Amino acid sequence: MITIIQVDPESLDDVKQAMEKLIEQLGYKPSKPRIFLKPNVVDALPPSHAVDVDPIVCAGLILALKDKFDIEEFVIGENSGYFSEKPENFQSLIETSGYEKMVENLKEKYSVPLSLVNLEYEDLDEYKWKFPPYKLKLPSLLKTHSYINLPKMKTHGTCMVTLGLKNQKGLLLLKNKKKFHLGFRDKNDVYHSNLHECIFELGNLVQPELTICDATLALEGNGPTTNPGLTWVKKLNICIGGTDMVEVDNACCQIMGIPVDLVEHLPKVNVSLAPGSLPLDCEEPFKRPVKRTKPYGNMYHHSSMWTCTGCQMTLTRMNRKIAFNPELREKLKERNKKYERIDFFIGRTEEKDIPDDHGVLLFCGNCTKEVSRLYPDATHVSGCPPHYRELTEIYINL
Ligand code: SF4
Repeated sequence: MITIIQVDPESLDDVKQAMEKLIEQLGYKPSKPRIFLKPNVVDALPPSHAVDVDPIVCAGLILALKDKFDIEEFVIGENSGYFSEKPENFQSLIETSGYEKMVENLKEKYSVPLSLVNLEYEDLDEYKWKFPPYKLKLPSLLKTHSYINLPKMKTHGTCMVTLGLKNQKGLLLLKNKKKFHLGFRDKNDVYHSNLHECIFELGNLVQPELTICDATLALEGNGPTTNPGLTWVKKLNICIGGTDMVEVDNACCQIMGIPVDLVEHLPKVNVSLAPGSLPLDCEEPFKRPVKRTKPYGNMYHHSSMWTCTGCQMTLTRMNRKIAFNPELREKLKERNKKYERIDFFIGRTEEKDIPDDHGVLLFCGNCTKEVSRLYPDATHVSGCPPHYRELTEIYINL
């Protein structure tokens, strides 16, 4: 059973009341006196960009839970790829996204026993895992606390949507996130891509007690983060909650106008609405992510389906840097005059993926290292992912 509630993210009191209603309608009661919340916070951007769960949604939920139940501790945790690697990156993420301020406010003004942690550096438990190396480490918080999953409603370039199931990738250590994208070789040395299967299996391994999808503002197009000209913000002012994560994701797909069959990691299930829920309607289908098949000027982008968030973020940050810097845009024009065609590759790439009529070759990230060696004149930018400043420098001055 799920419920859809109206949420106006302008006032903390209003959000708290909306969350009380959601908890009431679902009859939710935490099974433990300590709560672990895992919001989707993937880029250092303010809430207006609709990339991260709005901190006010997370705060309203915490206050609603605190008032209704006897909670000893709240922990907010995220492992957000590039931003979790180093403490200074994590600091920039929580500052810009508004999470740091929200946590301070709840602690000081409402005396909430609350902490905000980088899951890359938390205690871990080992689980049996379906794929090599058959073990997976996940935060111990999943066992010691009642776990609440807070996804953001977004379309996604690789997975079609990113909702509850996909948000759980933020529970993984960085090295394992990458493994999800890279797949594995079996005993016969045959390569298996299994990103969607890994996300599905993680959903079998770990189930939140409650999933609440923040669709106050949602993102459509080539998410999961802003891409100038390729993503758009949609104001829905709703949240979708339920105790079954898969059912919540199914409901979200219906609201987004995206058939569940197009989301490889998501099984199709029936959705039932709690009494008092808003209707499950799709007012206007979300714009779906598009694979760029036509060249952009002389630039042919080849983003493989295995490109993980690390390189996607690097690329997005580079595009933003160029889009907002007139000097770099001028340099780019000069570069474009030099070449008839440039082929740019990110994500695991094989020789068969390189077109015969390719132009100057530029490879991004360690995943493309092997194939780049086959082309002595190619440029390869190493790193996993490369730093966006280094990539920009090389991209502009090719
Ligand atoms: S090189 Fe890029 S795409 Fe490949 S695993 Fe590293 S970050 Fe992900």
